[in-house]
Amino acid sequence: CGVMAVYNHPDAARLTYWGLYALQHRGQESAGIASADGQNVNDIKGMGLVSEIFKDDVLLQLPGHMAIGHSRYSTTGDSALLNAQPISVESTKGLIAIAHNGNLTNLGNSKERLERDGAIFQTTSDSEIIIQLIAHSKETTLVDCIADSLSQVDGAFSIVMMTRNRIFAARDPHGFRPLSMGRIAGVDGAPDTFVFASETCAFDLLHAKYERDVKPGELVMVSEDGVTSRYFNTDEKQASCVFEHVYFARPDSRIYGRWVQQSREEMGRTLSRESGVPADLIVPVPDSGVTAAIGYASESGIPFNLGLIRNHYVGRTFIQPEQRVRDFGVRMKLNPVRSLLEGKRVILVDDSIIRGTTSRKIVRMVRAAGATEVHMRISCPPTISPCFYGVDTPSTKDLIAANNTVAQICAFIEADSLAYLSHDGLLHSCTLGEKEGGLTKDSFCTACYTGIYPSQVVDVTEILPAPQ
Ligand code: 5GP
Ligand code: SF4
Ligand code: MG
Repeated sequence: CGVMAVYNHPDAARLTYWGLYALQHRGQESAGIASADGQNVNDIKGMGLVSEIFKDDVLLQLPGHMAIGHSRYSTTGDSALLNAQPISVESTKGLIAIAHNGNLTNLGNSKERLERDGAIFQTTSDSEIIIQLIAHSKETTLVDCIADSLSQVDGAFSIVMMTRNRIFAARDPHGFRPLSMGRIAGVDGAPDTFVFASETCAFDLLHAKYERDVKPGELVMVSEDGVTSRYFNTDEKQASCVFEHVYFARPDSRIYGRWVQQSREEMGRTLSRESGVPADLIVPVPDSGVTAAIGYASESGIPFNLGLIRNHYVGRTFIQPEQRVRDFGVRMKLNPVRSLLEGKRVILVDDSIIRGTTSRKIVRMVRAAGATEVHMRISCPPTISPCFYGVDTPSTKDLIAANNTVAQICAFIEADSLAYLSHDGLLHSCTLGEKEGGLTKDSFCTACYTGIYPSQVVDVTEILPAPQ
């Protein structure tokens, strides 16, 4: 998912809309914006793309100097309008709206306990648990209630919250998902505007300056009194999602203090060093394979060209929850360029093989367009384990690398050769040259490549509330 928040701007909802527009790649199922003017909170949510839901006249219904927004990509809870965010709950603590990126694990007995205390869940999404825990917290001040709530849930959460007059931003103690803070300087002595976004690419459109990341375990509050911060948990070791650098984030974003473009290009260079093969042409699988392929080409000296053209009017296929949609999507989305591929030994570079079905179609497509050899290179290690922290990888039985050797996968996708980036090569690529600000190799989650999870995981879908 993508989350966004704006504090202190006359056109807060419009800025949030622009931010969500830049974060659209993080989720395309539904989107929503809630705005507040100090008194009233309004929200509008819908299914589909941000631009489809928020036409100009719709934004006019969202007045106020504060807003939060969300673009959803479902991991737990149904893909339905009732689970679109922000979720707003009116409680004894006042009205609280939340937008959540991530996935909670180990809700423990929170749901039963909350329902005993009279909580009525409005959604089937795990994110609402956080709000209900705030509403039922025994602490006195709101910020204490929020810290109390956040310290009770496990898993991945980068969240923004809004009350009638305050904005909160927080990141889980492992720092699984990114969340950055930016600032727009006030004009003519007016106070500055503060913004929060899942990725820094959302700041560019707003002319906001990146200020810093929200830290793992940190709760930031923005109010009339300015920005304050506190930690609700400092006991966990940082385990930030490496897959953000591999695939999820945009190359023009700085994630965990490092440009995604730099990591991705280095993944390609390292991959070329680790498993080069004689060829005539490097072809990325667009868009996710492009930056790594550029790195691969620069390291190998083999020419790079766009031998597959992507139709950009079709959404990211894997983000559609239905397998049926995914299968049809591949043919709609990619088309080979025969004039480039004919008679060539081709190296295809892509970010991941998940089920292998897309990759097989692409290999067949490139061969049918006249390539004499098709070698597949993947810019991360084999995906052997599902993600419980907010990326919708299928269960182990559907992960081709969990059940097959690289040679078997190569045979399945019908490639002449197949190689993956090593685990060391991946971490090298995400840390190279970073002296300050960037993460160290041991600060990443790589569980989908190792099966070693940084926190205990429970399948939360079994304990989630039923819709009311
Ligand atoms: P596959 O060959 O596994 O069917 O698809 C691989 C390609 O589709 C890659 O380009 C990858 O970006 C994308 N993809 C397809 N399904 C998924 C999925 O469930 N998760 C992720 N992370 N990527 C997927
Ligand atoms: Fe990221 Fe993989 Fe860890 Fe999930 S399991 S948070 S996708 S590195
Ligand atoms: Mg792809």
